[in-house]
Amino acid sequence: SVPLFLHLVIYRSTSSTTLPSFLLVGPSGAGKTALLTLFERGQHVETRTSQVPISVEVSLPVSTNAASLKYRSVNDPSNQVHKKFLLADTPGHGKLRHYAFDGVIKPQNLKGIIFMVDAADISMGNSGNGNEALRQAAEYLHDILLLLQKRSTSSKTSKAPKELPILIAANKLDLFTALPAPLVRTALESEISNVRSSKTKGLLDSGIGMNDLDIGEEKEWLGDGGDGKFEFSQMDEVNVAVSVAGGNVLGADGQDVKQWWDWIASNL
Ligand code: GDP
Repeated sequence: SVPLFLHLVIYRSTSSTTLPSFLLVGPSGAGKTALLTLFERGQHVETRTSQVPISVEVSLPVSTNAASLKYRSVNDPSNQVHKKFLLADTPGHGKLRHYAFDGVIKPQNLKGIIFMVDAADISMGNSGNGNEALRQAAEYLHDILLLLQKRSTSSKTSKAPKELPILIAANKLDLFTALPAPLVRTALESEISNVRSSKTKGLLDSGIGMNDLDIGEEKEWLGDGGDGKFEFSQMDEVNVAVSVAGGNVLGADGQDVKQWWDWIASNL
């Protein structure tokens, strides 16, 4: 399918002026459209012209309400949680930066980012394109994390940047070839280490690259940079909490998206 850049907007009440929002991104084929379809099922879908976001409004599943609202009174009106998606149909990774600078660095009440990945596709045991799929996913994720890091380092104030969590949704765990979520984490961390060290080396080798990529005094490398091992915990310093959780949107035995709903609910 066409790679999609999705915005998931979740809001507590129709009177909200700025809706809490989540961004849904990831490589083509990860299952974003499938997740969107699941979220929007039976709900209002608003379709607009190309380049303009499509918004979809859905409700938090009852089971997730029960799990996530345990700190609230049953009668709390804010329990009436609604979800709204804004789907930008601009395809492709190259457009990410355009959107990301508008949507990630200057977020409109952005509560988090969901990076969906096909856990079967990035499996090393997936003969043929396994490593290539992992590399592409890692590059994409690297670029997003770097943008989030810049969001903080470009801040004019000395104040710590607002926390922005990111969920790596390891999808298609119904497939027996899929990597379990903890292995998706380590596979992405190690591949991002490779992406980072080649980018750092490229920057050092080329003054032109540096000028092209540089924005002010910002660091152009992720986390600590260099040849060391990248770990998602290095993002803590810039207030980006990375979680990894598995699930499946489809599957012979039905869907399992509970951990993702829980993550959304806990970051609302
Ligand atoms: P997108 O490019 O990220 O929007 O991915 P799609 O939603 O189009 O999904 C790509 C393919 O993966 C489709 O054929 C889906 O039916 C399939 N798919 C999506 N989620 C799952 C899942 O959890 N399990 C399985 N087995 N297939 C899935």
